[in-house]
Amino acid sequence: MELGSARDIWEAVLGELQLQVTRSNYRTWLAQTTGLSYLDNQFVIGVPNAFVAEYLETNQRSLIEKTVISLTREGVSVSFRINDAPPRPASGRPAAVTEGQRYSFDNFVVAGNNRLAYAAALAAAEDPATAYNPLFIVGGVGLGKSHLLHAIHNLALAYHRRTIFVSAEQYTNDFVSALRSRSTEEFREKYRNVDMLLMDDIQFIAGKAQTEESFFHTFNELHNANRQIVVTSNRLPRQVTEKDELSSRLEWGLVASIQPPDYESRVAILKAKADAEGETVAREVLEYLAQQVQSNIRELEGCLHRAIAYARLLGSLLTPELAARSLEDISAGKTAGSLTPDLILEAVAVSFNVSAEELRGRRRDRATALARQVAMYLLKEATVCSLAEIGLEMGNRDHSTVIHACRKIALDLENDPRLKRQVADIQASLGTRSTPAAI
Ligand code: ADP
Ligand code: MG
Repeated sequence: MELGSARDIWEAVLGELQLQVTRSNYRTWLAQTTGLSYLDNQFVIGVPNAFVAEYLETNQRSLIEKTVISLTREGVSVSFRINDAPPRPASGRPAAVTEGQRYSFDNFVVAGNNRLAYAAALAAAEDPATAYNPLFIVGGVGLGKSHLLHAIHNLALAYHRRTIFVSAEQYTNDFVSALRSRSTEEFREKYRNVDMLLMDDIQFIAGKAQTEESFFHTFNELHNANRQIVVTSNRLPRQVTEKDELSSRLEWGLVASIQPPDYESRVAILKAKADAEGETVAREVLEYLAQQVQSNIRELEGCLHRAIAYARLLGSLLTPELAARSLEDISAGKTAGSLTPDLILEAVAVSFNVSAEELRGRRRDRATALARQVAMYLLKEATVCSLAEIGLEMGNRDHSTVIHACRKIALDLENDPRLKRQVADIQASLGTRSTPAAI
């Protein structure tokens, strides 16, 4: 491949990193970086301040280096330099927009798969606590649940409504630290003095008895006071909690599901994303990408970014052929579309002779624990799930557990040929290539 400038290469690298890290991670640490120079196998990345430099150096160096190498050549090493010049937004990507701000009802593409959820979300934002309360939005990974929730949030802020947007994980942490610091009264105040409570990924509180209890009370007080509650989840209320009082309350209003988008909707979404970024992308390219990625919109977007960056890197027109090449080049990309967490868990379960349930469960004997860690490692490797989502898949573990598992298995694989073979067999059974851990 002909090499472009440091700037172009870095754009392409960013396109790829976007797929590999969570959105908030990307926004916080990567969105304001630039490609400064590429000379003598040294790739220098400009970062806005020492804090970001240190974070990237300690946490993401190997992932970044691996990605740079995949787009340049073996042996390149990266370094970070503080760049005093004002950050230049990577083309099309606004630099200073905080997470969530860019999600609105306007840039949500409505189709049969999400029409009800969209209409209900809009109604909740326009006329809180009149139509559906609570509104429960349910659907698989990357289908737009958080997007809708942010859209409600942004509209509510525009109307000056007191609104809290919180992930169930944040709520849990908040609650636990309130217990520790004996500031539960403040916690109560915070969550109950609002017009609207928006909680993302409520399944995270499943099985955490005290947090469930706390949420139950929060819910009741808000609902009694006629305040709007909207929650999202990847499971139905009955599967979120065993506590009947809570699950039945979650069903009180409307349960609106979002299904995977059909082909036409996928093309429409790609078109909207390209337009929003001021990119002109040929219809055949959008159609090609929509055929390649079937389930997940986040992944669809990632592939679009990757194809655009790749064409820019080569200085060529983006054609379906080039788009195909951009997808092939990436180690994890191609397989990511077809592999679901369930398939991976099933394959690991078979190999380790445990059940998928046990992988998600709490048993701590060594064999089960190892199998579980391998499952997390493979989920990180072969899907576009974020660490938090992997944690959720694996029975509500938090993301630090996932990081730990991925690091440990990456290390074990270097030292334990038997495990290495076993993991390679699992990957073969899933049809993935074995690539080093992206951690
Ligand atoms: P979820 O929370 O369901 O896992 P997200 O809301 O994070 O999914 O969506 C993943 C990505 O897909 C986001 O970048 C979001 O903007 C985009 N997306 C999802 N659905 C749509 C849609 N209908 N129109 C436009 N973009 C969408
Ligand atoms: Mg989400």
